[in-house]
Amino acid sequence: MSKKAILIICDGMGDRPVKEYDYKTPLEAANTPNLNKLAEEGLVGLMDPISPGIRPGSDVAHLAILGYNPYECYAGRGSLEAAGAGIQLKPGDIAFRANFATVNEDLTIVDRRAGRIKTGIKELAEAINQIKIESVNGVSVEFYPTIEHRGVLIFRGEKLSKNVSDTDPHEIGVKPLKSKPLDDSVEAERMAKALNEFTEKSFHVLKNHQINLNRVKIGEKPANIILARGAGSYFKLKTFQEKYGIKTAAIAAVALVKGVCRIAGMEIIDVKGATGGLNTNFNGKADEAAKAIKHYDFVFLHVKATDVAGHDGNFKAKVEAIENIDKMIGRLIDQLDLNETYVTITADHCTPINFKDHSGDPVPILIHGPETFHSEIKKFCEKTASQGNLCRIKGIDIMAILTNYMGISEKFGY
Ligand code: ZN
Ligand code: ZN
Repeated sequence: MSKKAILIICDGMGDRPVKEYDYKTPLEAANTPNLNKLAEEGLVGLMDPISPGIRPGSDVAHLAILGYNPYECYAGRGSLEAAGAGIQLKPGDIAFRANFATVNEDLTIVDRRAGRIKTGIKELAEAINQIKIESVNGVSVEFYPTIEHRGVLIFRGEKLSKNVSDTDPHEIGVKPLKSKPLDDSVEAERMAKALNEFTEKSFHVLKNHQINLNRVKIGEKPANIILARGAGSYFKLKTFQEKYGIKTAAIAAVALVKGVCRIAGMEIIDVKGATGGLNTNFNGKADEAAKAIKHYDFVFLHVKATDVAGHDGNFKAKVEAIENIDKMIGRLIDQLDLNETYVTITADHCTPINFKDHSGDPVPILIHGPETFHSEIKKFCEKTASQGNLCRIKGIDIMAILTNYMGISEKFGY
């Protein structure tokens, strides 16, 4: 009989030895009785999300970990963000991550997040959606607000390419950038032109909008321009159902991760209070995962908090996030039949607190299940993982290993 599996990704959990904390990593310093128990009874090793030294974005790392070669299928971040927001792209569409920002009269950016605007977003989006693209034939544009200042911008029409640069300069005190084609194609030129026209028009439509006039009156920053980044095009993946014939569900709060899971054909389960931040609903995630594995063969569970702390360079916050994850895992395994279920815990990359970004180091991984050898490792962390019985694998190997244990993999050869 085939077994079930839960794959838990603690985003950016891996780290480097931190001098100020006695050369410990946050995972090493954290009190993690549940992770330690699973590590001792299971397989432990290191995992290179892509390959040694390659610094991955969360998007390509998740593709690899879920068994898709990102070098073959990755089509830009915008399309994953769109899928995460539940927007169906069509072949030919180009999607961008977009955000409301605040600019001065001379277009200098004052705030890339428009004071993290929370109200009036629907009205502003309606105004933006009146914009018509005139400089390029047969192209229309749609803006979908998601959370706070964030949204997805989609250009539809013929002959468009994702090979264009961002309008978002990723800093304040400068003007929005002009999007440029990144190759010599007509498609890239058309896309850049349409995006530049849209950006200009977004300012004209938004600057005197009643919502913004009201915001200025009460001392808030107006949301008076749309900045775009991370162009992506439509792409398709073979779903888990098609690849392995299994039913799958995903628990994730971050749009990008949701997008990868949705394209992989997973059912998305929303957890109340799951924020993608440090204060997410850890207990709710554990309970929903325990409930889901009763109805699905494979459940994917993502926690963002560790990556947030890593980007903030906050050792203590990262330790706390890891301890919260450990409690979440304790609560989850209490509700599981461990004779029937494989539990895998790893990260999608390291986000070292002294680097404050994703590094190309390997991350620790553990696989616990009814037929795994015991590593006898007492503390789950980066250092001990290098001595574990799983040795060193790549992200793309994980699904092969899991489907092998689950008893659902195809034989290669006769
Ligand atoms: Zn990540
Ligand atoms: Zn990150």
